[in-house]
Amino acid sequence: MAAVIVSAARIYVDGAVKKDLALELGPDGRVKGLVPRGQATLDLGERLLVPGAVNAHSHAFQRLLRGRTQTASRTDDNFWSWREIMYRAAGALDAEGIRVASRQAFLEMALSGVTTVGEFHYLHHAPDGTPYSDPLAAARAVIAAAGDVGIRLCLIRTIYLRGDFDTPPSDLQRRFCDGSLEAACAAIDALVKLETPMVTVAVAAHSVRAMAIGDIRAAKDRYRGRPFHLHVSEQPREVEVCLAKTGKSPVALLAQAGVLDKDTTLVHATHLRDGEVHAIARSGATVCICPSTEADLGDGLGPVRELFGASVPMALGTDGQTLLSLLEEGRRLEMHARLQHQRRNVVTRNTGDSSAKACFDAMTVNGARALGIDAGKFEPGSIGDFVTYDLRDPALVGCDDDALVAALVFSADSRAVRDVCVGGRLIVRDGKYTRISEHSDSYVKLTRQLFG
Ligand SMILES: [Zn+2]
Repeated sequence: MAAVIVSAARIYVDGAVKKDLALELGPDGRVKGLVPRGQATLDLGERLLVPGAVNAHSHAFQRLLRGRTQTASRTDDNFWSWREIMYRAAGALDAEGIRVASRQAFLEMALSGVTTVGEFHYLHHAPDGTPYSDPLAAARAVIAAAGDVGIRLCLIRTIYLRGDFDTPPSDLQRRFCDGSLEAACAAIDALVKLETPMVTVAVAAHSVRAMAIGDIRAAKDRYRGRPFHLHVSEQPREVEVCLAKTGKSPVALLAQAGVLDKDTTLVHATHLRDGEVHAIARSGATVCICPSTEADLGDGLGPVRELFGASVPMALGTDGQTLLSLLEEGRRLEMHARLQHQRRNVVTRNTGDSSAKACFDAMTVNGARALGIDAGKFEPGSIGDFVTYDLRDPALVGCDDDALVAALVFSADSRAVRDVCVGGRLIVRDGKYTRISEHSDSYVKLTRQLFG
């Protein structure tokens, strides 16, 4: 698209709400600078313009589970029984189904103000576990879905080599499993060649359950400098079994193997042991919290206060897609910590600090950091993806400038989203999605096929 100078009644810049400014974007959608509002070529009116949200951890296909796991499958229902239901849904999807389900999830994200998604992708093979003739078929389906919607994608290509620790993969896990580390790396190398300004590639080791530590270290070494993600210590049982099998907790195992550095993101990190917060802080790694999913799955509450206190960057993910709004994840980061510690404004350091700002940073710049992209802020040269919120929305109306971002983070929802711009293109305009007319019919058809 052509260069544009876009403005709105208020813009959130450098941690403050400002008026009379406009955002100048180059033809590549990157920020050229901030100029007076009077120079705008596109004025979006009574709206608050903010950097787009970055969803650092998503499994798009799990959108299919929406509403389908909230009935007790046994009296002590837990993460592991949920996982069986998730595996069954995953086991029924072909590559076209992955595209349809991912598109629906990405569309809902876009409508909620997400401009970049980090898709932790591990459905690599056909439902029966046989590799597709094109080893990238499933990854291409995710990339196509993001392209359909117009959302920016970091495809986090996930390596999965075994069942839980030393067990072979179950039938339901076989479609996740790479035949070997070499085969996984060949697929990653091929995906890297498909990178574009809108699609980048990161690497993940699924978990210490699904890969031996030697393989995790080899993958990290091979892709050093590229974002590297892992699920870590989400459930107490994972920590206990890891201790029993290796003598170390997952974080200690990864730290000793040299896997933690500034490009590493630990997803969840809910059940940390003494000293692990500081080991993570020393390494420079990011922790990605997925508050609504961790609540939905009964994972527990992680050490958010301690991580914040140790200056560990925290990003956010919608993970299992029970809720699909980064505003919701942002407010839960603070709200869960309030419930846990029985105090308020937990993610602050000094009197006068705004917990909303810390939550907003987690939704934006910290997510971008986790995905290795320069976004989430309006600085010259940065990706200028933005979202506007309606200042007349019932959740925001009447707020003065000092209260606006706190009202947004703690009280608004996707209803207030008016415009979403990704890569210089408005994919949502005036609250309506602009790019594809048919988006849910194929998804409804898919759910009927899968669930009857
Ligand atoms: Zn996950």
